[in-house]
Amino acid sequence: MPNLQNPSSPADGYRGRFAPSPTGPLHAGSLVAALGSWLDARQNQGKWLLRIEDLDTPRCIPGADQEIMRQLQSCGLFWDEEPTWQSKRLERYKVALERLNELQIVYYCTCTRQSIVSTLEAQGVITPRNQEMVYPGTCRPQKIATHQDENKFLTQAALRLALPIDLTIEFEDLALGKQSQDLNRDVGDFVLRRRDSVFTYQLAVVVDDAEQRINHIVRGVDLLSNTARQIHLQSVLEYPTPNYIHLPLVLDEYGEKLSKQTLASAINTENTQEALKELRKAAKHLGLRDLPDGKATSIAEWLLAATQAWDRKIISS
Ligand code: GLU
Ligand code: ZN
Repeated sequence: MPNLQNPSSPADGYRGRFAPSPTGPLHAGSLVAALGSWLDARQNQGKWLLRIEDLDTPRCIPGADQEIMRQLQSCGLFWDEEPTWQSKRLERYKVALERLNELQIVYYCTCTRQSIVSTLEAQGVITPRNQEMVYPGTCRPQKIATHQDENKFLTQAALRLALPIDLTIEFEDLALGKQSQDLNRDVGDFVLRRRDSVFTYQLAVVVDDAEQRINHIVRGVDLLSNTARQIHLQSVLEYPTPNYIHLPLVLDEYGEKLSKQTLASAINTENTQEALKELRKAAKHLGLRDLPDGKATSIAEWLLAATQAWDRKIISS
């Protein structure tokens, strides 16, 4: 049955956030997400929170969080409330996982990447290189065992969420319009805690957005394919579903998303002029082409003009 989620009614006003992973300094792509979410929050007299998503420790770079914070400040993108670090909130994710386990919708998975590839191949399913594999449900019969044996939480196995049979999630992206995803067909039972005991992005982001009462999520379109999973998790955990806006990605000269892997260079914020240059580039990418900022010499002035000009409907794609 289609599951149409109603966006939460923001009882305590607009609350947005920027949630960078500290895998390196801000680059042109992450600045677009920071600026877009900041402008949307400011135009709506909202709060804008900063959350450092540092759970995937092997990928995190020591000091990158501080560097990102310095860069944001140099660009005049100040946050409200104390920043949070996911690495300090492990207990919260564990509580959520236990709640899902009580609902008997969590199970252990001992599959390796290779064994999943082999199972899929045996079923005649070939996953294109840049696409995620749809988990074939191999370990699902272990579902009940997980629930009965608490100690198993300690073993070397991943924990997956068992999806209901028929699960099409529909939601309205405030910039892109109606979206829909069949989770069984496109994703399969997904991982909540990895075999190395790291809580996954999907679980942590849903718990944090709910606990921080975030009701507007503005982020890059590369995360769009995660949104249906997150809405499903929100619904099983009985959290409200926020509004979503996905922003256009900045691509490099090869058409690849800018990231640390593609060696995207850090934005230059060494002085006001350089920071303004970076901000103008990011704004242009968001569709703010004729920003009436002619005389803006301070970042605050420029940001004010950009906030007034911000328009969800002209976000380019
Ligand atoms: N930490 C994620 C990233 O940097 C973003 C999470 C989000 O905005 O939901 O890609
Ligand atoms: Zn498995």
